[in-house]
Amino acid sequence: MQFNQLNLSPPLLKAITEQGYDKPTPVQEQAIPLILQGRDMLAGAQTGTGKTAGFALPLLQLLYDQPLPKKPHPIRALILTPTRELAKQVYESFRTYGKHLPLYSEVVFGGVSINTQIKRLQQGSDILVATPGRLLDLLYQKQVNLSQVQFFVLDEADRMLDMGFINDIRKVIKQLPGQRQNLLFSATYSKEIRTLAAQLLDDPVEVAVARENAAAELVSQSVYAIKKENKRELISWLIGDGNWQQILVFVRTKHGADRLCRQLIKDGIRCAALHGNKSQGARTKALEGFKAGKVTALIATDIAARGIDIDQLPHVVNYDLPAVAEDYIHRIGRTGRAGSEGEAISLVSPEEAHLLAAIEKLLKKQIPRNTDTGFEVVSLKVEKKAKTQPKPNQSRKKNTDYRGHKPKSDSRKRRPGSSERKQTRK
Ligand code: AMP
Repeated sequence: MQFNQLNLSPPLLKAITEQGYDKPTPVQEQAIPLILQGRDMLAGAQTGTGKTAGFALPLLQLLYDQPLPKKPHPIRALILTPTRELAKQVYESFRTYGKHLPLYSEVVFGGVSINTQIKRLQQGSDILVATPGRLLDLLYQKQVNLSQVQFFVLDEADRMLDMGFINDIRKVIKQLPGQRQNLLFSATYSKEIRTLAAQLLDDPVEVAVARENAAAELVSQSVYAIKKENKRELISWLIGDGNWQQILVFVRTKHGADRLCRQLIKDGIRCAALHGNKSQGARTKALEGFKAGKVTALIATDIAARGIDIDQLPHVVNYDLPAVAEDYIHRIGRTGRAGSEGEAISLVSPEEAHLLAAIEKLLKKQIPRNTDTGFEVVSLKVEKKAKTQPKPNQSRKKNTDYRGHKPKSDSRKRRPGSSERKQTRK
């Protein structure tokens, strides 16, 4: 199928050609005609599938089909995204695809001056891309009017729920007119997403481009089994030996991101950390440096990495495995985008074996192991739970041991407190 078979107007087709897009991606092929028909939609499209254009192009078309409103243009399409990076990116997509149309787009997100955003909104905008928190601030200050919204998109809805935005989303929905077209995009379908979809969508069509919870198909995945303390050296070596130029490295914590970044800089690797503690300015600088090739390795936490969109990002490394298996799919979705092949490598220590097992269960397959690390070979077999039951006076934290540490010594079991407590409980 070609873009010119999708009933899009010449100004949109022109912008698409200028972007160098050859033909629609599968999600675009499916979603664009249905959105143009005015249907509500539940779309299971993971990142990297071209889903943004999948909703931006038909929404621009639908807005363009209407008589041009008087200035200042009222907001007719609202797109909610979980993070500022994604909001900016979606906004840029609307600007790019809509550049030959007489329509305006704006974006609002937290962490930057609200006053500038208020001033820009006063000039009118047909499309508003927003993160929920800042949009609510603007609503409370009566600086944004959503009474003319006809098109509402929840982008990366699963992530919004993970980030605890459900109440904010509900508050925003309350401000919208009852008559509108709703689109819900989510990489994964949990029970909560299904519930939200049932409440929000009216007789929706379902569009799924990849199997639910399927990992991006173009990504080659592998696991390096390695001790935690050897990970840093291995990643340095991989970058140097492979002459990698652009790699996105995932770590679990902000602190871990900063520490790894410092260590890699010592190894001579140009590196920047991206996480929620950084100012918006620092985040933008890190991202731009990475996109421009000035930074080789971008070290990011899951939330900060959401919304990073770089074509043909060749390497993703999981320095730590994510605690939530589905995040693995989001992470590796950063590579193998827009039809190019990518490589996702996970450095997994024995302490993380159970996380790997959960990921492989979700993927329904085993990720190939690479034991040729040059370091001591370690086993990634999940340890069976200790046979001895935890004593009631041992806190769960001491015993559960998600890092895999064994209880300190047997002597603890014989501590007088344990048997005493047992008796008093009877
Ligand atoms: P998304 O899944 O929306 O994050 O898009 C992933 C990337 O695919 C973006 O960088 C888009 O610019 C690119 N893209 C979107 N549609 C197409 C297309 N039809 N052909 C080639 N690249 C595309």
